[in-house]
Amino acid sequence: MPQKVYVTYNQVHKLCQASADKILNTIQPNLMIAIGGGGYVPARILRSFLKRAGEPNIPIQAIGLSLYEDLGRGDPEEVPGTKVTRTQWLDLSALEMANLIGKNILIVDEVDDTRTTLEYAVRELQKDLEAAQKQLGREGETTNFFVFVLHNKNKPKKGLLPEKMMESGHYLAALTTDDVWICYPWEAKDIDEHDKLARENPLV
Ligand code: 5GP
Repeated sequence: MPQKVYVTYNQVHKLCQASADKILNTIQPNLMIAIGGGGYVPARILRSFLKRAGEPNIPIQAIGLSLYEDLGRGDPEEVPGTKVTRTQWLDLSALEMANLIGKNILIVDEVDDTRTTLEYAVRELQKDLEAAQKQLGREGETTNFFVFVLHNKNKPKKGLLPEKMMESGHYLAALTTDDVWICYPWEAKDIDEHDKLARENPLV
């Protein structure tokens, strides 16, 4: 079983802050797609740092993907599944998809572990976008996908992201970590205990 480490809200906030300038300078996203549930809080924090004076907030859309299933044996977070299940997806109507075409889309998740989830998200979003562009006769427009995660575990990955994405800085991790199990504050039942454990078992 991997070692457990604890991350606080404060640390998550600062990881988003530390990456925001880079994201603003290079990616300039028009839209975020948060992978739920772990991507929701980072996406929301990031949005505050990406806000430019006089411009509207960047919209956040949500998708739900589940890889680690609760098999009823307790500790559901430590039972890796092999298959990604969609629990929520984009509204694929032409009207909604039109909003995504030609944009810089930043996909946000909390952690890149085996990369299975991110591979699925990027592949399927790209596929749906291409289909929508074709349907709407807007094939000529370039839609760019980017990925942001708080933590990337330094380990062999099962999932693959497009080479172009990895080489061109379209993939950004705030922190690269060892192969540990990261406990996030939004999973905590007792946040004071969580913060105490974070002081005792920090992610270094
Ligand atoms: P992957 O598809 O990269 O193996 O895993 C992605 C998902 O698995 C994450 O979005 C997250 O929900 C879960 N996961 C993987 N590693 C961790 C971890 O260290 N801590 C927590 N809390 N969730 C994890």
